[in-house]
Amino acid sequence: MTSIQNAAVSPRNAARLELDGLRRSFGAYNALDGIDLSIEPGEFIALLGPSGCGKSTALNCIAGLLGLSGGEIRLGGNRIDQLEPEKRGFGMVFQSYALFPHMSVRKNVGFGLTMQGIKGADADRRIDAALALVRLESQAEKLPGQLSGGQQQRVAIARAVVIRPPIVLMDEPLSNLDAKLRLEMRAEIRGIHDQIGSTTIYVTHDQDEALSLADRIVVMSQGHIEQIGTPQDLYQRPVNIDVADFMGFRTRIAGRVVAISGSQAEIEAVGARLTGEMRTPLRVGDAAVLSVRPEDLVAEAGTDGISATVLSMEYRGRAFFGMARATDGSELYFRADEHLPRGAATTLRPAAGRALMFKAAAP
Ligand code: ATP
Repeated sequence: MTSIQNAAVSPRNAARLELDGLRRSFGAYNALDGIDLSIEPGEFIALLGPSGCGKSTALNCIAGLLGLSGGEIRLGGNRIDQLEPEKRGFGMVFQSYALFPHMSVRKNVGFGLTMQGIKGADADRRIDAALALVRLESQAEKLPGQLSGGQQQRVAIARAVVIRPPIVLMDEPLSNLDAKLRLEMRAEIRGIHDQIGSTTIYVTHDQDEALSLADRIVVMSQGHIEQIGTPQDLYQRPVNIDVADFMGFRTRIAGRVVAISGSQAEIEAVGARLTGEMRTPLRVGDAAVLSVRPEDLVAEAGTDGISATVLSMEYRGRAFFGMARATDGSELYFRADEHLPRGAATTLRPAAGRALMFKAAAP
């Protein structure tokens, strides 16, 4: 943890949070299908996954806004899944700021303290500390409607941390902000987390956000956990093709394994021989899928690679990125140093050491 630990906003009772076989169904549908996760005090955890995978359901179960259909939640070894949300005492920051429009910033931030019966000088001191943390001291008497979106979200954060919660829960808190502000607030949220030292659980479907913020990322899919790891683990070593896809390995090339050498497998695919790092066990003859990021699938005339026809191209500052179609119909996302016209024939090859190889799913 980096710096201060301001006593006025640091959590009173940091403790490990354990999710044990968490289940939640809606009718016959299992939105959470057995989630096991142990979160250390002070960790920044991102729950990442596509829309509908159960991230918000998991967060709402932790908050106590949704009951469980099975499993346990423990904080510091004590079961809390039967407790009302207020008794859990977690701070919550959601997509919409949900500030009280008729109350000043100061009153909004102090609301949780009033609910806890904390008044007078003690409350004032803590509100001041929370406003200082989000750099809004000078806006304290304004109404939420007089603030920018970013400032409103900072009020929501101040309001969540003023009660000194052991855990702060955030559900896509930046999704209503424009791209530039999102980047600024990202850094600010991590800074605030480091300063208060509480645990943060942060829901997002944006892998950049998860990579840049979290100590560990939990990738979810269809109500279960696919992989838990540090940003580096997930970025470099996704355990299956779905996680790889989610971490930006956008192009998939199907073929058959023709050689194995150490951890590398070579496949024959659409008329080319391509090598990738095996992420699942493979044998010669297996159907396999090579998975590669657009920036690592490079268009180079005259190389030995996959012949494809360019469908579209766009300029993104340092390079051109495009989509091409291989002779077997597969769509390939690639990078090029120069603009290639639509319909041009090109040859694409994964950069050395940058492709992953997975066993193909059974048909
Ligand atoms: P998003 O990123 O779109 O918010 P998510 O990963 O947070 O998605 P959840 O909101 O947790 O997903 O929803 C998980 C699944 O549970 C979805 O299929 C959703 O339709 C379903 N679901 C969530 N809440 C309810 C509800 N109250 N009643 C019925 N189904 C629900």
